[in-house]
Amino acid sequence: MESTAFNTHKRSADEVIRRALSSVREHLGMEIAYLSEIEGNTSIFRAVDAPGLEDLVKPGDRRSLDDVYCRHIVEGRLPSLIADTADIPLAASMPITAQVPIGSHVSVPIRRDDGSVYGMFCCLSPTPNPSLNARDLAIMEMFADLCADQVNGAIEVEKTRATKTALIQSILDTRAFAVVYQPIYHLGSARPSGFEALCRFKGEPYRSPDIWFAEAEDVGLGIDLELAVIDAALNGFASLPDDVYLSVNASPATATSGRLAEVFAGHPIDRIVLEITEHSAVEDPRALMSELQTWRDLGLILAIDDAGAGYSGLQQIVHLAPDILKLDMSLTSGIDMDAAKRSLAAAMVHFATEQNSIIVAEGIETEAELNTLRKIGVHRGQGWFLGKPAPLDITLCEVLKVARPKQA
Ligand code: C2E
Ligand code: MG
Ligand code: MG
Repeated sequence: MESTAFNTHKRSADEVIRRALSSVREHLGMEIAYLSEIEGNTSIFRAVDAPGLEDLVKPGDRRSLDDVYCRHIVEGRLPSLIADTADIPLAASMPITAQVPIGSHVSVPIRRDDGSVYGMFCCLSPTPNPSLNARDLAIMEMFADLCADQVNGAIEVEKTRATKTALIQSILDTRAFAVVYQPIYHLGSARPSGFEALCRFKGEPYRSPDIWFAEAEDVGLGIDLELAVIDAALNGFASLPDDVYLSVNASPATATSGRLAEVFAGHPIDRIVLEITEHSAVEDPRALMSELQTWRDLGLILAIDDAGAGYSGLQQIVHLAPDILKLDMSLTSGIDMDAAKRSLAAAMVHFATEQNSIIVAEGIETEAELNTLRKIGVHRGQGWFLGKPAPLDITLCEVLKVARPKQA
């Protein structure tokens, strides 16, 4: 699925160009306006404004440069403004002039930032138009400049997109990421009930995993990347005791991709917690619910991540009826010193208990936060105070250290 910033940019550039074409065409009183791109010896119509003449000319049409005016205009053999093609011998002699027909023609090149010609911004009419003058040409040039800005912006965006795509693809190809595991404790015990798998990317400079995932989503590789990480994360089962679960993160898009089976195959589904992380509104809540239900019927444990923040709103929580609600760190942080956070967390505990789900508090950094959460009745927690995310072998050693005093 393509989200994204790139498409939004393209849509707005297309809209500016579309409006420029129709404004200039109406101003000049001509029938056809278009923006073309020159590729090799071909002129390709990228945007067209020609009400009623859509059969004659439409986006995607191609013409050989040998047949059209473009190259002659760029190289100075034809003027940019032709009020009557019959007055210009070269124009009059070209077959296209009679074919279309072209009676009047105004066309200026669109240049890339490096000065090279991208294509043409052009208006034409089947009839001569003796009123066309230098001021009309100046207006045409103004609109062409406006379109050139859009075209150059789009070229830049496309370059960035290509670079990002190549980077994410190479991360996927070489699996240039590591999975770290953070223990999640039942707050009444010293033994972790599960571990959350979190991704670390090897690229420099360091960027947090959510930024990498957002970039992957921007270039249409978000689902592939999330699945690759889940695939790697679930290998952790091999080192874990049978009663410990593994929590993996997925966006709603990944959850509804129909591809979870690719990465869940061969693993104990009833020990997998799928944390749904929403960074934007869910596109198709029904599809999400039905896909998740299929997996829940097989034992999958469902968690809503970052509850109390962003898009993980109450409505979503009520609809999905998750097994676990993960209390966002913004609520945990400083909860011992904030009565409002305490009452909100208490309300969430009450709500979760009524719904037969449990609360996992994220980001517990201090003993005071931990004690407050315990008092409120929060069921489970994770955070640096309890254990930092680390490679699984290190995490398991840390966990043993934590567990030892209580077991003695
Ligand atoms: P999240 O899933 O809500 O993960 C919790 C984040 O809080 C993690 O950040 C974790 O390292 C951090 N954290 C845990 N305890 C503490 C604490 O006591 N204090 C502080 N300050 N932070 C703590 P991380 O690993 O940087 O991940 C950030 C977000 O990136 C995650 O939020 C999740 O949305 C996304 N993410 C990380 N790994 C994956 C992954 O494998 N797949 C997907 N789809 N998203 C991931
Ligand atoms: Mg999470
Ligand atoms: Mg979270």
